[in-house]
Amino acid sequence: MKCPVCGNDCVKDAHELIERMPDIFAPCPRCKSRTLDKGAPLQEFYYATCDCGKRFIDEVFAQLYITMVEEGDLVPTDPLKKVGYPLIHPGFALTTAPFLPKNSLVLLSPNISPGTAWRIVHEVPEVRGVVKCGHFIPGATDLDLTVPPRTYELLAGCDVRADIFYTPTHPFVVYKQQSKIHIEFPRGYDPKIIGVGACIRRKMPRMFIDADCGAGTLGILAGMLGVPHVILNDAWYAASFWAAYNLQINREYLLVKDDVHFFQKYEDMERHPVVRDPLKIAEMKGDQIFDVYQGDFRMLPTILPKEKEMLTVLDLFEKGDPVFNERIRTEWKAQMGGDVFIP
Ligand SMILES: [Zn+2]
Ligand SMILES: [Zn+2]
Repeated sequence: MKCPVCGNDCVKDAHELIERMPDIFAPCPRCKSRTLDKGAPLQEFYYATCDCGKRFIDEVFAQLYITMVEEGDLVPTDPLKKVGYPLIHPGFALTTAPFLPKNSLVLLSPNISPGTAWRIVHEVPEVRGVVKCGHFIPGATDLDLTVPPRTYELLAGCDVRADIFYTPTHPFVVYKQQSKIHIEFPRGYDPKIIGVGACIRRKMPRMFIDADCGAGTLGILAGMLGVPHVILNDAWYAASFWAAYNLQINREYLLVKDDVHFFQKYEDMERHPVVRDPLKIAEMKGDQIFDVYQGDFRMLPTILPKEKEMLTVLDLFEKGDPVFNERIRTEWKAQMGGDVFIP
């Protein structure tokens, strides 16, 4: 599939990624693994390669460190961890550190300049994109949508990458543009997915609403578990877009006939980064129905049909306060009814 960020074919259907999981990060018999101390500066300025085309992640980090020192983004007394945060592609729980193939790493770094990022993308084959990150969560993070959303900055390459999550029936794939969507790395044991999955199977609703859906993980989970009508919604354009895109990526596991029909393009949606009145941006139809909206979830009751057997998941950024959770739950139930689950 054509990538909406770089225009290349860096996006694959779900099964293509899932089939590669057993050996994508496995070494060849000649691969070497030199483990480096991340809290200390790099001692020897060299990095090894292997003719199989994969490298141990620490060797890749050695090359990144050397490049950043040469460009003046780091000094030789900086610890190795100052290079940044490696996000592997595809992301899934690993029992050992990975041997990285080509285009399998998005580097998030607060310390990197555009020139260095360009060099890294052209000289380090494992890196698919470099993002300058900050100490904040990208996207619309407050319930009232009054705080202007912030994003990280893609400096070079493409920062679209995928995470693979498990359900009791089959894994599924969630792509995102990493500079615009918060990090959600699968740990193999994901309490949110287990909790929401158990709740769906217990109630088996006719309609499921993923009210603050991010890249669509919980809505796709509901689809995989067979809920007939799934609504995904997020006020942040990138979340709403990628949720719809991820329905397309995983459509082979859903009971649908057609591809996702988009009413808006990614670049057009960027012109309205935050929307209050729900705007339908995509749908997918078949024996299951999926509707994707961009909007304030508290406005959804004005447009959605009333359905008794309904389950809403409110996976909000501002949760944790029981009084706040209860107020939001009560308000929602008064307007929309059905069951409400706050994971
Ligand atoms: Zn791309
Ligand atoms: Zn090798």
